Amino acid sequence: MTDVHLRNLFKTYPGAKTPATKDVSLDIADGEFVVLLGPSGCGKTTLLRMLAGLEMPDSGQIVVGGRDVTYLPPKDRNLSMVFQSYAVFPHRKVRDNIAFGLTMRRTDRRETERKVAWAAELLQLEPYLDRYPAQLSGGQRQRVAVARAIVVDADVLLMDEPLSNLDSLLRLSFRADLKKLVESIGTTTVYVTHDQSEALSLGDRVAVLRNGEIAQLAPPLDVYSRPANRFVGGFLGSPPMNFLATTLDAGEGAEATADLGTQTVRAPAALRPHHGRPVLLGIRPEAVRVSTTREGDAVRGQVKVFEPMGSAVLVTVDVDGQLIKAQAPNTFRAASDDTVWLTFPASELRWYDAETELALETGPALETA
Ligand code: ATP
Repeated sequence: MTDVHLRNLFKTYPGAKTPATKDVSLDIADGEFVVLLGPSGCGKTTLLRMLAGLEMPDSGQIVVGGRDVTYLPPKDRNLSMVFQSYAVFPHRKVRDNIAFGLTMRRTDRRETERKVAWAAELLQLEPYLDRYPAQLSGGQRQRVAVARAIVVDADVLLMDEPLSNLDSLLRLSFRADLKKLVESIGTTTVYVTHDQSEALSLGDRVAVLRNGEIAQLAPPLDVYSRPANRFVGGFLGSPPMNFLATTLDAGEGAEATADLGTQTVRAPAALRPHHGRPVLLGIRPEAVRVSTTREGDAVRGQVKVFEPMGSAVLVTVDVDGQLIKAQAPNTFRAASDDTVWLTFPASELRWYDAETELALETGPALETA
């Protein structure tokens, strides 16, 4: 059982004004794949390096498989790591690169050969075992690095942006292979990336980091469709979530409502105590309905930009000075300055306090750190 627990980790690099990680706690279950996602400088790599033993926290605790490893050197942690730069040995053949960790551990020859053959098959490296890294493509070299990491039966697999040196097509195919591979070996995995599609596709759960803190920790579909705060909604999604400023009204009877121009939307009943407060209504561009004809209480706006995206079109609409992005099927047509009508389905709206920018609704899907 290799569960991982990060408890209240603080780390400030010498001379830095702000901490790289601030009170980060994260419980990772045995066999779970957790992705650390966030913008540059948010502390992802620092967290991973503390887990690997390459950096020491100023305070806090790291427990792996029930063992406190906080101050143990990397070699005493039984973790393996894959880096962004392939970090393979240029003067060793592929088979010797893969076997490296086993050789260091003085594993017997037959067992080493068996493991190398197993990893080479999983990573489709069998034809290249007798080549040197210089005779491989970037994708193949990264496969060697992954093979080397999995043969040693590490308790935890750590990966730091392993796909980011690959071109976009290769990244997509390797991503799918990596997902299958990690599922099949079942090793607890912590994976760092700033690429949201990679995070959503790979993770059992995604920890979105901001300024050294976890802004939300939840399964991928939940971080996407129920962001715990404005930062997460604005970081995930391409384009990101729209946020419409309005005020929560008491409504009639037990209801709370908010006005979006001509459309009045009903708020969840639980929000009624917040009436009178300024709120932000979050809605994903693909959830906004856009039409060139007026429908019901749709809100009128003017097209600012019309962008064909291939499988869909993106329409930027000015509604009383607020710019709203709507993603429509690629059969939709409009041009700059056209009048269009927008509808915001109530079930797709997420409610945020305008001041704290935190979600007003709570529930299991809104699990935060
Ligand atoms: P990126 O995606 O750009 O790699 P990250 O989220 O992995 O970023 P970290 O590398 O963990 O971020 O860095 C977090 C903060 O700590 C940043 O402000 C960075 O400048 C700082 N930092 C990182 N390493 C060092 C170091 N060795 N010395 C001083 N400051 C550092």
